[in-house]
Amino acid sequence: MTATEWANWAGNVHASPRVIAQPASLDELRTAVIEAAHRGETVRVAGAGHSFAPLCATNGTLLDLSRLSGIDRIDPETGHAAIWAGSRIADLGDPLLAHGRAFANQGDIDRQAIAGAVATGTHGTGRTHGSFASMIRAVELLRPDGELTTIDDSEPNRLRAAALALGLLGVMTRLTLATVPAYKLREQTRALSFDACLDAFLATEATHRNAEFWWLPAHDRCVLKSFVATDDEPFRPETPEAPPGTLERYLKPDAVDWSWRIYPSLRTVPFVEMEYTLPLAAGPEAMRAVRALMQTHHPDCTWAVEYRTQPAESPLLSPTQGVQSATISLHQAIGLPHEPLFRAAERIFLAHGGRPHWGKIHFLDRGQLERLYPELPTFRAIRADLDPARLFTNASLATLGLAA
Ligand SMILES: Cc1cc2nc3c(=O)[nH]c(=O)nc-3n(C[C@H](O)[C@H](O)[C@H](O)COP(=O)(O)OP(=O)(O)OC[C@H]3O[C@@H](n4cnc5c(N)ncnc54)[C@H](O)[C@@H]3O)c2cc1C
Repeated sequence: MTATEWANWAGNVHASPRVIAQPASLDELRTAVIEAAHRGETVRVAGAGHSFAPLCATNGTLLDLSRLSGIDRIDPETGHAAIWAGSRIADLGDPLLAHGRAFANQGDIDRQAIAGAVATGTHGTGRTHGSFASMIRAVELLRPDGELTTIDDSEPNRLRAAALALGLLGVMTRLTLATVPAYKLREQTRALSFDACLDAFLATEATHRNAEFWWLPAHDRCVLKSFVATDDEPFRPETPEAPPGTLERYLKPDAVDWSWRIYPSLRTVPFVEMEYTLPLAAGPEAMRAVRALMQTHHPDCTWAVEYRTQPAESPLLSPTQGVQSATISLHQAIGLPHEPLFRAAERIFLAHGGRPHWGKIHFLDRGQLERLYPELPTFRAIRADLDPARLFTNASLATLGLAA
């Protein structure tokens, strides 16, 4: 254990934990948690630090579970995979393929820890295959007293809480996720005008396995991307990473590969991001309003705006809870102003029934979150039961009323 400084990937969240512990076993993890509790410190777990929101910040004990990684077992009957919480998503594709399995969907990158991705509802695109949280079948948690408990579908509401819990219920040690037979995807992109892209997206989105588009403000053009399942042999032309906001960054030659190699992109230039999830039907109008806002009031922000879809999901804190959804994501380079644009865009999203991505930037307060998440009281009650002394919290989460 060492006293040190911590910063997230984007560099917009900094913290000075008293200790950062990297347990290599459940016993070491248990000791770190119990010692923190005895010292009266709060505990946070960091995955890969890829959240833009201050979820991991603490001046108490910060846990890094990267030494608790790998696939524990895969049930040959169900295909459910028990995975150690600190595993990076990028490291899971090959071992899953060895069992003929894969995740049904993934997001833009694969650098996150599986537990971090689950804990914030990290998602890709497509109305038939949901977020990592939606794949959860059981969660093994280390509680404040160091005891391990497994939450599964024998306790449906607890599982709905644990599937997307922002680290508020305890330390997730092993996660059991549903997997699907391994599959290959063909990636196709094309550039279109804004109106043509929105029309094409709406016409094809429901029939494509995964589709999304990026609007590039500097060009006022879009790149429509789709993934179609294929049995073709893998091929992937090498393309250098083009600068953010350019058409070349998103417009790629066709490629075929195993799903987990096709989904992620390279993201090396740090940025901050806001993402809202909206009822599916409200998405196009909100997207048009965001485009008008950026063209009239924020022409200096040239980073792409991403548009995706998601199925309705059941976790208590899922932004897509109960509704098929569209998601809209805004990006801005680190060091350039983002707050005026993000605040103005947030007003548009809220007017269209949006809910924020938990891992990204938002400006909501406790009252607003309570109105957006009608099952927050149920989540809080489960949290209070599992962590009555509020060990697993921080100032930001407490202010938002999530650990109340
Ligand atoms: C370049 C980039 C691309 C992104 N692309 C997408 C995308 O396509 N789709 C999308 O939805 N999001 C995306 N995100 C957001 C990102 O996926 C989420 O913020 C995710 O939570 C980050 O995972 P992480 O491992 O870095 O978790 P962290 O940010 O480190 O932690 C997230 C939360 O998980 C909790 N946590 C982590 N491990 C544990 C554990 N073992 N037990 C209990 N709690 C734990 C933490 O306490 C925290 O509350 C992107 C972010 C970046 C920087």
